[in-house]
Amino acid sequence: MASIDISEVSKIYDGGVHAVKGVDIDIADGEFIVLVGPSGCGKSTLLRMVAGLEPISQGTVRIGDRVVNTVEPADRDIAMVFQNYALYPHMSVYDNLAYGLKNRKTPKVEIDAQVREAARMLEIEPYLDRKPRALSGGQRQRVAMGRAIVRKPAVFLFDEPLSNLDAKLRVTMRGEIRKLQRRLGTTAIYVTHDQLEAMTLADRLVVLNGGRIEQIGTPLEVYNRP
Ligand code: ADP
Ligand code: ADP
Repeated sequence: MASIDISEVSKIYDGGVHAVKGVDIDIADGEFIVLVGPSGCGKSTLLRMVAGLEPISQGTVRIGDRVVNTVEPADRDIAMVFQNYALYPHMSVYDNLAYGLKNRKTPKVEIDAQVREAARMLEIEPYLDRKPRALSGGQRQRVAMGRAIVRKPAVFLFDEPLSNLDAKLRVTMRGEIRKLQRRLGTTAIYVTHDQLEAMTLADRLVVLNGGRIEQIGTPLEVYNRP
């Protein structure tokens, strides 16, 4: 687990787009934060800066006591889940889950235990030998979640992970994501443009507009204003 301190963070892309403007968010250990707002308001850019995937123009992001920009990618204690799953098509589900652990030179017995535990939690044990193309969209998204939880990272980052799924599956997976996050106590930042998704998932919502924070608070505080 880790707290996240986003302090006076701005992003100006080459070419001059000012995508994020002086954003401050203090995220507690184990908190589930949802970034919500219209397309182009800066959600993905902010998330990618927290992930260390996008250079920060101004300000700092700290995860625990470490400044994100100074930590080597392999040492970042985060896992990211995308809408397009980002699975390796030529690898079995098992190898997809094991991949991140193998890269860290984890002993084989331990890898096996962790892969099976993650697969059990997500109910994808029956598919461990299949290739991703032999799975449904919902099963693929479970594998993508499995890849995120298998390393037991301190932080989960979600970039619209459910937007390729049908409405019914979105509701199911939403519940499962929240349950897993609670059980593991992992701090989470979740990007969506779906208000209902935001309201049902968030401990606190951050509403972005034009790269700035418009509102921040619990779903009740943000959506139930008189
Ligand atoms: P959101 O995730 O809320 O849809 P983004 O963070 O993707 O918003 O984009 C915020 C703004 O930054 C938009 O105006 C977008 O066009 C711009 N932008 C995003 N990525 C890049 C990039 N790599 N280069 C230049 N501009 C970008
Ligand atoms: P989303 O709205 O889901 O964040 P976008 O369609 O804005 O997705 O962006 C998709 C990809 O294109 C991202 O990798 C983003 O960095 C890049 N991108 C977005 N806007 C621009 C832009 N104006 N110039 C260059 N790259 C961009």
